[in-house]
Parts: sequence; structure tokens; C-alpha cells
Amino acid sequence: MSTEPSPGVPYLPPRATAADRAAAGAGATVDVDERRPALQLEDLQVAYAVRGIDRIVLRGVSFSIAPGEAFGLVGESGCGKSTTAYAALRYLPRNGRITSGHIRVDGNDITTFDKEQLRRFRAEEASMVYQDPGSSLNPTIKVGKQLVESFLVLGQSKPDARANALQALNRVQIADPARVMDRYPHQLSGGMLQRVVIAMALACDPKLLVLDEPTTGLDATVEAEVLDLVRTLRNETGAAILLIAHNLGVIRSMCDRVGVMYAGKIVEEGPAAKVFDDPQHPYTVGLLRSLPRQGRRKGQHSLATIPGTLPVLGADLPTCVFIDRCSLASDLCRSQEAPLVDLGGGRTTRCHHPDLIGTMLEAESTRVVVSQGETVLTIAGVSKTFRQAGHSVPALVGIDLSLADGETLGLVGESGSGKSTLAKAILGVHAPDLGGEMTLDQHQLASRIAKRSAADKRAMQIIFQNPDSALNASWTVRRILKRSVRKLTGANSVDSDARVATLADHLRLSPRHLDMKPSQLSGGLKQRVAIARAFAGDPRIVVCDEPTSALDVSVQAAILNLLAELQSEQRTSYVFISHDLGVVRYLADRIAVMYLGRIMEVGSTDDIFGGPHHPYTEALLSAVPSVDGEPSTRIKLEGEIPSPANPPSGCVFHPRCPRRIDGVCNSIEPPIIEASLGHIIRCHIPAEQLRELQQSPASG
Ligand code: ATP
Ligand code: MG
Repeated sequence: MSTEPSPGVPYLPPRATAADRAAAGAGATVDVDERRPALQLEDLQVAYAVRGIDRIVLRGVSFSIAPGEAFGLVGESGCGKSTTAYAALRYLPRNGRITSGHIRVDGNDITTFDKEQLRRFRAEEASMVYQDPGSSLNPTIKVGKQLVESFLVLGQSKPDARANALQALNRVQIADPARVMDRYPHQLSGGMLQRVVIAMALACDPKLLVLDEPTTGLDATVEAEVLDLVRTLRNETGAAILLIAHNLGVIRSMCDRVGVMYAGKIVEEGPAAKVFDDPQHPYTVGLLRSLPRQGRRKGQHSLATIPGTLPVLGADLPTCVFIDRCSLASDLCRSQEAPLVDLGGGRTTRCHHPDLIGTMLEAESTRVVVSQGETVLTIAGVSKTFRQAGHSVPALVGIDLSLADGETLGLVGESGSGKSTLAKAILGVHAPDLGGEMTLDQHQLASRIAKRSAADKRAMQIIFQNPDSALNASWTVRRILKRSVRKLTGANSVDSDARVATLADHLRLSPRHLDMKPSQLSGGLKQRVAIARAFAGDPRIVVCDEPTSALDVSVQAAILNLLAELQSEQRTSYVFISHDLGVVRYLADRIAVMYLGRIMEVGSTDDIFGGPHHPYTEALLSAVPSVDGEPSTRIKLEGEIPSPANPPSGCVFHPRCPRRIDGVCNSIEPPIIEASLGHIIRCHIPAEQLRELQQSPASG
């Protein structure tokens, strides 16, 4: 979070505001009053034409961002965040139209701009970075050529454009710019691509930078690096930032102020820390409560959910946009438009009853903790080597794990660490190398699914991140579930109808949902269907591979509650893969931390979060931005995960380990140390020493 330009990054001449920022310190809010806002939306209304009818999507959005300020926009999927971002640069899709209101960028009303003015505005003053870096780059053209192009459009000569492109890559901290220029987009990792896209966005030295979910697809550690970069660049360039992210922790760590959006209206606005610590709109309260945070665990609390769903596009909402889902809704709310209430300190809320927020009692139900019992699954010495172009690529190396009845084992680690490969080995999709052994309920498990008995197949099921891939799109939900029931249990048609009804009931799918096709369901409902399908044959073990990472926090909360509920009723065991450590902490009883196909640390959830930590776990934990704003010194890992085809000597983590002992870690395989009963760390540093190092704040 340093304000100093990093070594090797060319320092750009600051705008007037950068000096102010330096004087005020990093992260401080720039004094807004004296200057023209970098972006100002005034009562902006936008509609999308669908089947010839204008459907209102933004219902009078107003906010402004000062030069050098970062403003965050949060709210559930479909509330209009991206529409706001596109509208701010007049990039709306063809069927989108600004129906009233104004957008001023640095004082100029861009709603009145003609084509040529717009072209110049976009080339010179404002830039946008999208969630998927791939979509901003042409896959068939080398990265360098595309980057050079963004300087050529500014009217630069070819040699200048090339020099500037190289310099831009330096500026976004890409190590070997010349090499990267010569690559195609698919040859770069997600983090690298996003850096390239940010470099392109900064080509014109914009006054306004709009970032729409810039880190959503990235690992926590890569995300933290990209966010650091955005912070540094913000300090250097003094650009105003509009940041959209569904991770509220990211918004808190990046933004001075935040706007909470619901159904095309900003319902609450204010300094980010204040809004998240002390929300003053019922929707913000609901959004924050649905997060698994502050070390809450499934046994003690279920997560709060916001009942109902977002109103449909174009819905007529004359009074309060949140009325259908608000527990405070009164007759007044039903009869009059919600007023904009000034709460002082730069905070506003759009609510009739801000005085009643305090009465929204924490809806926390206590649940029975599932007692864990017998071991269901053991994995001993399991490795998996892939063959690739004549090379052997060890994707899993000597995995030892066990899973108890009714237990959730969380698997964490950066992408490429082997989590999904391990899941597939358990399911028999990838047969492990010879020599390892897996047992299910004390009997040996065939390595390949084709050789497993019907009972073994039925015992293990999987839920994926994207339910679409698992659900037949042309079938109704009823048919999908019925087929799974019949296939897994061999039940006759009548019995399977009854079983489908029970499943639907458990998963809170109504009969109406059963007659719909997956495409007609929301993401959360689709995931419920996928879970129902996984539970069709009373599985012993369900592997959940990022089951909620595509969902909004409130929908995620409902799915996590459901998984916890099913587990406590049926004593199902879960192998739960997620890159969201907050979610893993909530649901998992034990956690295994993977790196380059090896388990670096395994222990109870309390041990993993409480420490001592493996240095890799320590870095992973430090990369998580928290919505609670807990202070954490982020540990930066050097470089990227090495290729599994060519693993480093000694401890595979040593090239990136901030605590490595030279002469030891690079040459000798680390021992397995038991920090406490069942808490295992693979490291050369003794557990006590790790604990001491990790407790002294100066050590990061
Ligand atoms: P997410 O978090 O999923 O990215 P968002 O808050 O960015 O959601 P928008 O993409 O702005 O939401 O969409 C707002 C509403 O407008 C949604 O109901 C969406 O389905 C609808 N919408 C978006 N683009 C179009 C379009 N081109 N035509 C019609 N409707 C659209
Ligand atoms: Mg969006």
C-alpha cells in the first residue's frame, strides 16, 4: 500500500491532485469541494429496449467522484453497476439509451457530445478495464501489437508508440516486457493479461479510470497484486477511479467512498469504512450480513439471506425500490417515494426509516454442530503425473489425507496448485499413478470410475462452479432430477417421482421450478438444482468445486446454509474447494493448503487461521482484503507459481518463500512437522519459531 513509486517504475508527472494526495497521505480522501469532479452523474436514467419496449434500468443515479478519488459501486448482480460504468463513458450497448440526466466528466457534459467529441474523449480522457481481460484483447493478435495500437490512436509515431508500449509494461510491473510483447493473449496468465489491459487503459493517461470487476476471475494472491498496482498507479497519475467489485473487502481496501446500488438506484452512499462498519440502509445491512465474516462458523450461525429477488428489468417501482424485500417496510414506504436522507459526514441513505436500522436484530439461528465420526475416505500416497509432449508433469505428489463422516475438508491454494486434480482423482475421473491407495468406508476404491461399483459411484458426487455444464439445457428440472434418481438408485418411476418431490422440498425448489428449464432459472436456483442432483442418491461424499464463486453474496449465503443443513441432516462429508478463504473458514472443519500439487499444511480450521502457519498459508491469509478492514500487512510472494513440469529443488515453495533459509530450503525436502495434534506443516522452520516470527509485526 506504499505511495512510493516502486523501483523500476517510471515516475509520471503528477497532476495537481497527486501533490495533494501525497500531502494528505495514502488512502486519504482528497478534498472534494474546491475542484470540478472528475465524474459527476446527475439523476441519470438509462433504459434498454427489449422487444421494442424501453425498460428502465437506471432510475436516477447521482454521485460524483473527485479527481484522484476512488469510488466503489456495490450491489447484487443485475442491479445496474455495469450499466452505470458503461454509461459513464457512453459505451452503452446498442439497445441502451440515456433517457434523462447528465454525465459530466471534468465539467463537460458528455451526454451532448457528438461522435467526434466522443472518440476524442475516449481516446484521451477516460478508460475502462473489464472483468475478463480476454474480452479486451484480440486473441489472434500479439499483445505488443495491440498495446502499440493504443498509442498509435493517440497520434504517436510508430517508434514512439513502441517505446511507450514497452514503458507502459514496465509501469505495470511486467518483468520481461519485450518477451511479453511477442506473446499472444492466451500465452499469458490471467494476472499478466489484466496488467496488459491496465497498461492499455493507461496509455492516454486518463483522468478517469473505470474498472468493472477487474480481479474477479483471479486468485487471491494475484488479485492482491493487481489491486496494489491499481493503488500505485492511482497515486502516480491522480486518476479518479470508479471501481466495481462484488467482493466488499476489495472495495473497502481500495475506495475512499462507496455507493450501494439496488434496482438502478444508489440506496446508500458514504465513506467506505463508515458504510461497511455502520450500514444505514436495510439493503446494505442485508448485504453485509450475508457475508461469512469475523470467523463465524457453520455450526454456530447460519448466514443471513435477503429474502426474495431483485425486481425484473423495467419494473414499475414508484415508492421504495427495496420495498418487496425489506423487513422494515411500512405503509409509509408503500405510499411514498423513499427520501434521500442526509446523515452528515458525507453519508446519505434513501430510506423512510433510518432510525429503525438498529432494530434489525441479528437473525442468527443456532444450529446443532455435527459431530464427526468414523473415517469415510482415506487417501494415502496418491500422486498423479500427466504426460505432456513427451514430458511428465507431476500434478499431485504424495497426497495423504482423510475425511471423516459429516466432516468438511476445505482445499485451498492458488490456481494451478492441484485442487481440482485432487478432486478428480477422488472421483476417479483421473486415475492416480500406481502406488497410492484410496479407501472408502474401509474398502479399497478402484482408481478409475469405470471400475468402481455402482454403490461406490453413487457414494461420491460433485458440484461445480458453473451449474450449466452439469445440467442438460433442453430438459426440465424435473426430468434432470428424475433421471439422476433412477440412474443412481435404480428406483422405479413412481418411487423416483416421490424422491424428486422430497429433494425439491429439501432444496426449496417449488413445483413451478420443476417444470422450468435451467436457462429459465437464476444462477442461485440453477446451483440448487445441481445440488439436488448431487444428493439424488444419498451420497457419502460430495466434492464441491467452487460452488458459490459465481454467485452474489446473498445467494451464496443461501447456498452455504443449504449445504450446512444437508450435511447436518444426512452426515454427508464435503471436500470443499474455494479460493474464498472467508467461505472456507465458515464451512470447513479442516483445511488442507496445496501448492504445486503438494499439501503444505493441514489442520483444523482454527489451527489454519490461528497459526503457526506455513509461510505459504501466511501469505495466502495476508492477501485477503477484509470487509471489516482488519489491519493486515500483505506478504508479497515473488514471481508466479512455477511450472509443475519443472518443480524447484528442495522445498518447492522456496523460490517464493519470504522466510526461506538459504542453503537449506533450496536443497533439502522439508520435513513434516506436527505443530499440534493433527496440525501438520511441511517446513524447515520449527513450529515454535514460525509462531514467534509470525507474531512479531515487523516480520512481514
Ligand atoms: P453483475 O453484477 O451481474 O455484473 P450489474 O449490476 O453489472 O450485474 P448490469 O449488467 O448493469 O448489472 O445489468 C442491469 C440490468 O440490465 C440487468 O437486469 C440486465 O439483465 C439488464 N441488461 C444489461 N444489458 C442489457 C442489454 N443490452 N439489453 C437488455 N437488458 C440488459
Ligand atoms: Mg456487471
